[in-house]
Formats: sequence, structure tokens, C-alpha cells
Amino acid sequence: SAKNSGRNRWQLFSPSLHTEILERQTLLQDLRGALTNNELFVVYQPIVELSTRRICKVEALLRWQHKTRGLIGPDVFIPMAEESGLITSLGDFVFKESVKQLSQWRSTVAPELIVSINTSTYQYNESGKYLNHWYQYIEQMEVPFDAIILEITESMLMHQHENVSKQLLTFRDHGIHVALDDFGTGYSSLAYLNQLDIDFIKIDKSFIRDLDTGKSAQDLCEAIISMAHKLGLQVIAEGIETESQLSFLTSFQCDMGQGYLYAKPLPVKELTTLLAEKNI
Ligand code: C2E
Ligand code: MG
Ligand code: MG
Ligand code: MG
Repeated sequence: SAKNSGRNRWQLFSPSLHTEILERQTLLQDLRGALTNNELFVVYQPIVELSTRRICKVEALLRWQHKTRGLIGPDVFIPMAEESGLITSLGDFVFKESVKQLSQWRSTVAPELIVSINTSTYQYNESGKYLNHWYQYIEQMEVPFDAIILEITESMLMHQHENVSKQLLTFRDHGIHVALDDFGTGYSSLAYLNQLDIDFIKIDKSFIRDLDTGKSAQDLCEAIISMAHKLGLQVIAEGIETESQLSFLTSFQCDMGQGYLYAKPLPVKELTTLLAEKNI
């Protein structure tokens, strides 16, 4: 009966859960204001060409400096933004910030630099009008289209393939590159990978972490890399932390990598110094 289910609901709805929901609502409310309050900023992690150790790309990663709670990571607020629809404006902010920053770096310390930007499939649900606005922005910043990579996670793409792939194709027609992020966590098939219009795969950091501990992870990484190369894709390894992980990846002919071994995600000023030193 209604009365029973009402009582059950109250039993499930414990005080701590209640507090948690209120917390989330408050945080979401704060997130709505974060853009206008200038609490969001982008940090950049170098992506290095393994054979030369030169910085060839940077990945743009969003950060939130909350006025009372301090720094909040994207693992907390990106899912909230996706659920609430805020991801469209957040994604727009990251895109513009990082393309503008790329333009500055290319005209000063790093003329060949490429920026890789994380995107969520929810951002692609808008119509072509939205995409045109991005093309115009890139042209306005005088950055070539092929200096931009849009990342999309394997699992997101698998679940919304129909919707998103058409729009990614339009991006690629303009010369913008596409990378499949967190590869290996979405269980996509070889046949599926072959039919996607992508340029790079990024091997998830969980596989890189396991390189040091087991032969099976080594075999798996080697197989992923050689398969990707046969499909004409370049490979970026995420989360390289040790020299031994690096030497495995180098011996497997992995093209590029990023991780704490090279550099953490850095604020603009620090990365500018690093780029100037490395003289890429
Ligand atoms: P991701 O795209 O896979 O980014 C790589 C994550 O690994 C980053 O975490 C980075 O700081 C971290 N990382 C890099 N090197 C190492 C390492 O050597 N060891 C370890 N343990 N971690 C390393 P971060 O910045 O916390 O971002 C987490 C995730 O949030 C990202 O994963 C991405 O999926 C999402 N994200 C970040 N910024 C954005 C954004 O602007 N838009 C969207 N849609 N998602 C974003
Ligand atoms: Mg990424
Ligand atoms: Mg990711
Ligand atoms: Mg990733």
C-alpha cells in the first residue's frame, strides 16, 4: 500500500543520505555560479613524444577553486555538470579558454603545439549551430583546425554512438582530430574500433599502472598498441609514473605519453616556462 511504501522510503532515506543530497544540491548550486564567479580554470598536462621526449601536445583539464571548500577535482563536478545540463556551458568555457591559450603559446613559445580537450557526449546533443560557433572561434583565434584534438571516452561513445559520431565526423571533415579517451575500460570490440572515425587512442592509466606488476598487462598493452597501429591510429599512454613503465611502452612502440614522470597538470604560467625551456 501507499502507506507501507511511504514508510519504506523513510527507512531507506536515512539522515546521512538526506545530508548527502542536501550537500549535492548546495554544491550544484555553487557550480551554477562558478563560471560567473571566475572559480573555474584550466590546467594543462604535457603530452610527450616518447622517442624524443619532446612536448608535442597538452591536455586541457578543468579545475574548480571553490570559495570555501578549496580545490575540487573534475571527477566530482563533471558528473554533476553532465546530470544537470551545465556541461554545455562548462564545456564551452574549457574549449574557448584552451583554444585561446593555444593561440598564445603557438605565437610565442611553442609554434607547433597541439591542445587536446576533453568533451562529454552531452555536449554533442546540440544542433549544428553550436558546432559552427566552435569553428568560428578557432578561426578567430587564428589556430589551424588540426592543432585541436577532441577527446571522448570510449564508454560514452559506445553508449551514444549514433548521436555523436555524425558530429565528430563533421569535426574531422574540418581537420579537427578525435581521440578515444580511457581506452580499454569500455570493452569495445576490434570491429567497432575499426568503424569509428578517430585519430588517436589513449590507453587508460589503469593498464599503465599494471605494467610494472604483471606479464598479462604487458601483453595487453603491446597488443593494443600494435592493433591501433594496424588500424592507422596513434597511441597515447596515460598515467606514466615510472621509468620502467616508460621503457615497456617504448619497447612496444607507443607513440606518446603523459604522466607524473614527466609533469603534473600545470597552470598556464608554469607550463609557459616549461615550454620556453624545452624550446619545442
Ligand atoms: P582523463 O581525461 O582521463 O585525464 C587524465 C587524468 O589523469 C587527469 O585527472 C590527470 O590529472 C590524471 N593523471 C595524469 N597523469 C597521471 C599520473 O601519472 N598518475 C595518475 N594517477 N593520474 C594522472 P583529472 O585532471 O583529475 O581529471 C579526471 C577526469 O575528469 C579526466 O580524465 C576527464 O575525464 C575529466 N575531465 C577533466 N577536465 C574535463 C573537461 O574539461 N571536460 C570534461 N568533459 N571532462 C573533464
Ligand atoms: Mg582525457
Ligand atoms: Mg577521461
Ligand atoms: Mg583518460
